[in-house]
Amino acid sequence: MPSEINPLLSFKVNDLRSEYLNLIESDFQPKLWSNVEETETECIITIVIPTKGCSWALSESGGCSVCGYVNDSSRNQPIPSNRILDRIEQLLTRNCQKKSIILKIFNSGSFFDEEDVPQNLRLRIVKLLKENERIRKLAVESRPQYILNNFNVIEQLKNQIDPIFLEIGIGLESSNNAILRDCLNKGFFVEDYEKSVQKLLSSGIRIKTYIFIKPPFLTELEAINDAIKTAQDAFRIGTDVISLNPCNVQNGTLIHHLYRKDSYQPPWLWSILFIVKSIRSLYPNLDIICEPSAAGKHRGVHNCGKCDETVLNLIQKVIKNEIISEKYSEICSCFTRWKFLVESPIEVLRLRKLSKLRNLTPLNE
Ligand code: SF4
Ligand SMILES: [Zn+2]
Repeated sequence: MPSEINPLLSFKVNDLRSEYLNLIESDFQPKLWSNVEETETECIITIVIPTKGCSWALSESGGCSVCGYVNDSSRNQPIPSNRILDRIEQLLTRNCQKKSIILKIFNSGSFFDEEDVPQNLRLRIVKLLKENERIRKLAVESRPQYILNNFNVIEQLKNQIDPIFLEIGIGLESSNNAILRDCLNKGFFVEDYEKSVQKLLSSGIRIKTYIFIKPPFLTELEAINDAIKTAQDAFRIGTDVISLNPCNVQNGTLIHHLYRKDSYQPPWLWSILFIVKSIRSLYPNLDIICEPSAAGKHRGVHNCGKCDETVLNLIQKVIKNEIISEKYSEICSCFTRWKFLVESPIEVLRLRKLSKLRNLTPLNE
């Protein structure tokens, strides 16, 4: 067993994943998901292609403890390549005429994993992109191992699509090796990420790094500190942009199992605001993205329900370097409860059901 894996954690993650995939097997229908967003000058097209599925998640390792994307991949019912290509072509030709296009092709796994995205499909996508002069940037994602092992494929792709700019997203999640191994079951260490980044930088490829907030088994405060430290490490190592991703509890994962037992709660929006403010003050000019999925929902990042929208707006303002008022307790009384949570010793937190904490009467009021 490689040292990047904690066998006990991996066994449990795999057990829960297999059980859930078996449960949904019979009425599963793979779908192509897409989204088009228009700005004044650009058209951002995102397509999620349901390929076979992330090899890491489908392996005996069970995959990452917080990721349920494999639930939507096609696994044993592959969607024909022609359907995927037709859909990409439709999206490219029918949208935002005359504007330049940023095309994001995500396969909920690694674009350079031959098991998941066969070479033939990748080459046909490249051919399609070359026929469209409006595409300015292509964004895909990959685990570090495919960047390190298939780097010639990446360089080929970059040259083939030139002058389209290539961006590769890497899910580092945390720069702490103990968290990567014992909480997230990522199957790699920060050193693998660092080597991948160096390779990509040497080829002029743009790098986006995903940071996960908050891994299982961490307190709210530990998760805040880990996200800030990870952002610092990722920028030091050379990423161009960081994407902060607060947890959205997905079915079939270890984090879902813990959530159902009230042993895990997604982070507070106050925590994200604090993280974003800290990172922004360190790096006023670097690219930060935070577009949480399921924000405000119980399974996603949330506050008390009354102030969620307001705090989400504050987060975006901080990202854009706008000045915001810091009288947080005037925005909502739940700020005091959040403060209590992050300042409490772990022993106090153990005595309380985590899900109740967001609705407790604030101690200082
Ligand atoms: S986070 Fe990425 S590598 Fe991990 S299981 Fe999900 S798709 Fe696979
Ligand atoms: Zn509130």
